[in-house]
Amino acid sequence: MARILDGRKIAAEINKNILRRTEKMLSEGHRPLLVSVSVGESEDARIYVNMQEKVADSVGIAFRRINFSSSISSEQFSSEIKKLSEDDEVTSVIIQKPLPEGLQHDRLIGILHPDKDAEGLHPCNLGRILRKEADILPCTPGAVMKILTESKETLYGKRAVVVGHSAIVGKPLSLMLLNEMVTTSVCHIATDRSGHLKSYTREADILVVAVGKPAFMKADMIKPGAIVIDVGINSVEGGIVGDVDFQGSKDVAGAMTPVPGGVGPVTVSILMRNVLRAFVRKTGALR
Ligand code: NAD
Repeated sequence: MARILDGRKIAAEINKNILRRTEKMLSEGHRPLLVSVSVGESEDARIYVNMQEKVADSVGIAFRRINFSSSISSEQFSSEIKKLSEDDEVTSVIIQKPLPEGLQHDRLIGILHPDKDAEGLHPCNLGRILRKEADILPCTPGAVMKILTESKETLYGKRAVVVGHSAIVGKPLSLMLLNEMVTTSVCHIATDRSGHLKSYTREADILVVAVGKPAFMKADMIKPGAIVIDVGINSVEGGIVGDVDFQGSKDVAGAMTPVPGGVGPVTVSILMRNVLRAFVRKTGALR
């Protein structure tokens, strides 16, 4: 049976460290502020924002919600983002997804000052990964790296395969793994369609799956003893499942993240850590 890499436990430890630092800041009269910006009504976004607010509260970060009507124009929305970016009181901004058609998340993040980009997805923050200089990290790749570090396994020289090459998960994660001297391959839909996917995944000491398909990764695609990190969040009847067939794979993998309770909670903690880091960068507090 695979060792379970417990994301909730790792998240709790990160949150505890953040709280320790924000309590000290508060005693000196400072408090970081994270502003959540959403457009229109989306049940998914509402659940995420509620969760972010709860975690922010628990770690001593002030949280403000702004919700715009779905009729807002791209120009108006850009101007609102710019205002927040220039507002000295605001430490960090998160632009919630989904956005209505016509509003492009990646373009809007580019309007923010890079230091206010809570999600670590501004082109400057992504570029800093290349040079191993990033401290505001894309949240999900940051969470995967944190889980791997906490697994206490040696990363140096291992072979990793990342399945999924999105700009928010697979691509930045592959660079972060390379930065740790992990020999990294990235697979995607074309790898599968050309019939090569299994030949990659079967060789992976570290297998990260981020495709968005329930129970996509089956036991026969996993190298015995591998560390398997399941990024997927898929709503199915009866709840949320990942991209890995957990039941089928748990006796093949050496270590695995569950869904829920794996990458998800750590991702929210990395978001909060980004806010703290942005605040420290701005104020020099507790340097
Ligand atoms: P995306 O849709 O942007 O990208 C999907 C990737 O999977 C693409 O690279 C695509 O080529 C690849 N893919 C699709 N079908 C494939 C196949 N048959 N074989 C190989 N590759 C295939 O997705 P995303 O935004 O990166 O999200 C991926 C999953 O991760 C989703 O379930 C999403 O909900 C989840 N997610 C979780 C977190 C978290 O915090 N845990 C954060 C972001 C995304």
